[in-house]
Amino acid sequence: MTARRRGTPLTTRPRVAIVGANFGGLRAAQELGSEFDVTVFDPSPWFEWLPNIHELVSRAKRPADLRLPRKRLVAAAGHRFVREAVTVIDARRGTLATAGGTVHAFDFCIVAAGGVNATSGVRGVERHAMPFRSVEQCDAIGRRLAVLMKGRKQRSIVIVGGGFAGVEALGEIMRRYRRRANLTLHIVEAGPALMPAASPKIEAAVRRHVRACDVRIHTGSAVAAITPTGVRRAAAPHRRYCTLQSSRRSHCSGHPSMPRCAVAATPTCS
Ligand SMILES: Cc1cc2nc3c(=O)[nH]c(=O)nc-3n(C[C@H](O)[C@H](O)[C@H](O)COP(=O)(O)OP(=O)(O)OC[C@H]3O[C@@H](n4cnc5c(N)ncnc54)[C@H](O)[C@@H]3O)c2cc1C
Repeated sequence: MTARRRGTPLTTRPRVAIVGANFGGLRAAQELGSEFDVTVFDPSPWFEWLPNIHELVSRAKRPADLRLPRKRLVAAAGHRFVREAVTVIDARRGTLATAGGTVHAFDFCIVAAGGVNATSGVRGVERHAMPFRSVEQCDAIGRRLAVLMKGRKQRSIVIVGGGFAGVEALGEIMRRYRRRANLTLHIVEAGPALMPAASPKIEAAVRRHVRACDVRIHTGSAVAAITPTGVRRAAAPHRRYCTLQSSRRSHCSGHPSMPRCAVAATPTCS
C-alpha cells in the first residue's frame, strides 16, 4: 500500500518511508535508488526467511540460519533503517509516528507490514496454542517439543490444518521423532484431502511416506476449540491431544502452562 502527501512540490529528493522490512519492504527499498531519500521502519532487527521456519520445529535449523541483520541489508541498498514500530500514518499531512514517539515526514509511504493473525473462529487458539509465524515462535515450538519428548511418557500431537504448513510441520516432527515409540501424530484437516490446493498425487505420496509411523490423518474433520488439555473436534468427543498451533496467518499464542503439546496448522485462518 502506498500513500503520497498531496500538494507538496518535490523540490529535493522525494522522501520515502517504508513500513515493514521483510520481503515486501526490503524489496521495495532495494528497488529505490539514490534519487530517493528512503527510511525503512521495522521493530525487529532481523530479516526473517519465513519459508523455512518449519525446520526450526525439528531443530534442523537454528534461528541464526534464517535471520539476517536488517540494518546491514537496508544500508547495502543505500538507505536508512530505523528499528521502531510505526503506530500512526497521517497520509494527508505526510507524517508517521513511531512507538518511540518520533514523528517522521514523508512524500511517499509504502506499507509492507505483513498480514494479520486470525483464529478462524476456533475457540481457545489465542490462549492455548503456540503461534507459528516467525523464527522466534517456531524456535519456541522446537524447544517445547524437545522438552515434551524427553522420557518415555506417551505423547500425542495434533496438527490442525492439513495444508502446506501443516504437512511441513508434520514432516519436521517426523524428521526428528519418527523413531519414538511413545509418539502419536494426528493431522486434522476440514477439507476432503491434505493440501487441497496441490495435486492428489502429492497427498498420496505423503500418505505413503507416513505409513511406517503412528500418524493418523483425519480429513473432513474440523476443529471447534482448543482447550488447556487438548483439541476438540466439531461434532466429535473431546480428544486429549497435545497441541501446538501452526498457521501461515495464525493468531495462535503460546501458553506456558500448556500441559502437553499440540501442533495445529491452520492455513485456512485468514
Ligand atoms: C510458515 C510460512 C511459510 C511460508 N512459506 C512460503 C513459501 O514457501 N513460499 C512463499 O512464496 N511464501 C511463503 N510464505 C509467505 C511469505 O513468507 C509471505 O508472503 C511474506 O513474508 C510476505 O512478505 P511481507 O513483507 O508482505 O510481510 P512479512 O514477511 O510478514 O513482513 C512484515 C514486516 O512488517 C513488520 N511490521 C509489522 N507491523 C509493523 C509496524 N507497525 N511498523 C513497522 N514494521 C512493522 C514486521 O515486523 C515484519 O518484519 C510463508 C509464510 C509462512 C508464515
